[in-house]
Amino acid sequence: MGELRVRSVLVTGANRGIGLGFVQHFLKMPKPPQWIFATCRDPKGQRAQELQNLASKHPNLVIIALEVTDPASIKAAAAKVGEHLGGSGLNLLINNAGMVKPTMLENETLEAMTEIYTTNTIGPLLMGQAFLPLLKKAAQGSPGSGLSCSKAAIANISSIGGSITFPFGWEMVHAVSYRCSKVLSHLCFPCPVPVWVPLLSPFLSHHRLLPVSPQAALNMLTKCQSLGYREHGILCVTFHPGWVQTDLGAAAGQTPPLTVDESVQGMLKVLSSISEKDTGTFLDWEGKVIPW
Ligand code: NDP
Repeated sequence: MGELRVRSVLVTGANRGIGLGFVQHFLKMPKPPQWIFATCRDPKGQRAQELQNLASKHPNLVIIALEVTDPASIKAAAAKVGEHLGGSGLNLLINNAGMVKPTMLENETLEAMTEIYTTNTIGPLLMGQAFLPLLKKAAQGSPGSGLSCSKAAIANISSIGGSITFPFGWEMVHAVSYRCSKVLSHLCFPCPVPVWVPLLSPFLSHHRLLPVSPQAALNMLTKCQSLGYREHGILCVTFHPGWVQTDLGAAAGQTPPLTVDESVQGMLKVLSSISEKDTGTFLDWEGKVIPW
């Protein structure tokens, strides 16, 4: 298994936690990417201090403002990245930004459900759309016919908390909005489309809603991206990063077992080895397939 070699990579939510870990690992590679775009909501703020320190030492690290729930912000970031890249494309987009509210079932609200779904699920959709031209360009500019992360790829960071088969950590925290942001749908028969059942079921009474292996929303998005973007030469994969020592990981009040380094190192190893056959899959940081 070789090391992941990309010319350019973009990481969302790169100012702390797993996102910052990705940036640090890319910078430490023997052959680091020529461009590392680290995006965060407030590049000049206190929470981006560590990124700013890194950027002052590494000219290949570019910090870009990006709020993943704001289409205008995403569009502006894509334009900036395009300017830096000149005529070349973006090899790897890591949709890492995410949030949790460690609430219990009875305290969940419309506002929390909406905010978390918008951030964790719609954000990665909009990112994929906005960066598609640059990803396509990278795929077109890379030799070889198969899919790979070195060529062009989207990695969506999801969570096993969104697996219905194995809803990890329920006894610690319900975090319903978080789980649902990573959980979507049933498959509608006869139309082979994923549907947002709670919203659409009144209109689908003549259809049979099949509770197919429960899909995580972000995982289903990845599946859709893998189907839609395959023809453009773009590999799409979802990751469960493990239970990791970050603000989000510790939100339930317990110390997670994995360090950011272990999680990121694992995911980079997996990214270096996956190919065409893995597009659209849900893997953990060690490369094991996660049940939907
Ligand atoms: P952290 O809470 O440490 O970091 C979250 C990052 O996301 C921050 O950089 C934060 O920025 C950013 N972010 C949140 N909302 C937005 C937004 N609307 N626009 C742009 N950036 C935003 O979390 P982790 O590093 O632990 O989580 C990273 C990913 O891994 C998430 O998708 C999470 O769901 C997933 N994950 C993590 C697990 C864990 O155990 N840690 C387990 C399973 C999945 P800011 O500083 O501005 O708030």
